Amino acid sequence: MNFISQNLRNIALTIPPHVTLVAVSKTHPPEAVMEAYREGQRVFGENKVQEMCAKFEVLPKDIEWHMIGHLQSNKVKYIVPFVHLIHGVDSFKLLTAINKEAAKQNRPVNCLLQVYIAQEETKFGFDKEEILDLVRIQAFESLPFVRVNGLMGMASNTRNEAQIRNEFKMLKTLFDELKSTGTFGDSFSVLSMGMSGDYGIAIEEGSTMVRVGSSIFGARSYN
Ligand SMILES: *Cc1c(COP(=O)(O)O)cnc(C)c1O
Repeated sequence: MNFISQNLRNIALTIPPHVTLVAVSKTHPPEAVMEAYREGQRVFGENKVQEMCAKFEVLPKDIEWHMIGHLQSNKVKYIVPFVHLIHGVDSFKLLTAINKEAAKQNRPVNCLLQVYIAQEETKFGFDKEEILDLVRIQAFESLPFVRVNGLMGMASNTRNEAQIRNEFKMLKTLFDELKSTGTFGDSFSVLSMGMSGDYGIAIEEGSTMVRVGSSIFGARSYN
C-alpha cells in the first residue's frame, strides 16, 4: 500500500464520525489526489484558484472542492461554478463579491467566515467584534446568494499547546454565540479548525471540520 493510503487510514482512526476531513492537496499533483480518492476520500482543499480549477478539470466530478486559501475578489468567478465551500472569507467586501458573482451565475455558494484568532500579524480574517457588528446591523441579509455555514480559524504556529487550545476555545465560543443569534439559520453548523499539527486539540475543542495536508500527502515543496 502506498503512503497516502496508509496515512489516510491512520488519520481516519483518530477522527470521530461527526468531523469532516478535508484533505489539503495543494502543491500535490492530481495523481496524489487520485490515490486518496481510491481510498474513498472525496473532500479536498486547495488554496490557489488556478490550481483548484486545473484539478477540477481533470479529476472525478464527485469530488467536493474546498477553497481554503486567501481569495481575491476578481478570481471568485472562476470557482463559483463548482466550489463546494469557501473557507477563507475574510472581509465583508469579499462576501459581497461572492454574492454578486453567485447571483450572476445563479448558484448559491457556501462560505465560512475566517476569524482572526492567532497572535500573529500575518493572518487574514475578521475579528470577533467586526462580525458581531455586522450581525447587529443585519448586513448579511442583503446577500441572498451566500450561505454562511460557519466559521474557520487558524491557531498560532507555536508549540505552546495551551495557547493553541485557548485560540480554538475562543473560536468555538464565538461560533456558539453567533449560532444562538439565529442570523445564519440552521445551516450554520460548520466549525473549520485544525491542521496536521493541531487537529487533535481542535477536535477536542469542538471542531467539525479539519484541514489536513502534510500528514496525508507528505511535506510540500514550493518551487
Ligand atoms: C496548507 C493549509 C492547511 C494544511 O496544512 P498542513 O499543516 O499541511 O496540514 C490547512 N489550512 C490552511 C488554510 C492551509 O493553507
